[in-house]
Amino acid sequence: MSLSVFLRAARVARLPSLCEVCRSWAVSGLCPACVARFAAPRPRCARCGIGLGLAAPACGACLGEPPPFERTVCVADYGFPWDCLVADFKFHGRAELAGVLVEQLTAAVRAAGAPPPDTVLPVPLSAARLAQRGYNQAWELARRVARALALPTSPSVLLRPVDAAHQIELGRAERQRNLRGAFMVDPAQRSTVQGRRCALVDDVMTTGATAHAAANTLRRAGAAAVEVWVLARTPEH
Ligand SMILES: [Zn+2]
Ligand SMILES: [Zn+2]
Repeated sequence: MSLSVFLRAARVARLPSLCEVCRSWAVSGLCPACVARFAAPRPRCARCGIGLGLAAPACGACLGEPPPFERTVCVADYGFPWDCLVADFKFHGRAELAGVLVEQLTAAVRAAGAPPPDTVLPVPLSAARLAQRGYNQAWELARRVARALALPTSPSVLLRPVDAAHQIELGRAERQRNLRGAFMVDPAQRSTVQGRRCALVDDVMTTGATAHAAANTLRRAGAAAVEVWVLARTPEH
């Protein structure tokens, strides 16, 4: 039995395995000390999840121009160890990290204590990106968090017909322009979102441009409300 198979089996059986961050023994993927250190709640804008210096209901940007999503739930700021865990999960084929990440995301959603959405859906990848990566990390998170919370999912209602140019180098306004028309709701599944409260899942929210574009598309298709669930939120510089 390989070590990774053993560790996975041990986790399913809730036997101690190694903490993904500090390598001490842990019953789940992160030990309590690392959860306390790296997943501690901090004041955030309820609307877009950005970290705030002081507790306040919303940040200045959201007060000035409310986003098309009602609220954002996130576990932590994007930085160590979340950058490493997300990169391993997303790009280095460590699919087993989904369980560790989802455990934290589920806890954050529960802690937010809002009424449950009617459906949980992933931010989609374009067909080309999906073929390249082999799986959509957002769906791997969405389906697990939905199962943990006993909520229905809509894996294919939101589509991404256009593969937008790579976003990493772009600022927020450029990202928004870049994403215009990037998403659409499958016409055959419109009733899945019409009048429904949708929770949109992704791994990281950077500028929020992707969430804006996806939420706008869902709202235009008749969604009653959209909220966003992400593991990590890039802090303001
Ligand atoms: Zn640890
Ligand atoms: Zn905000």
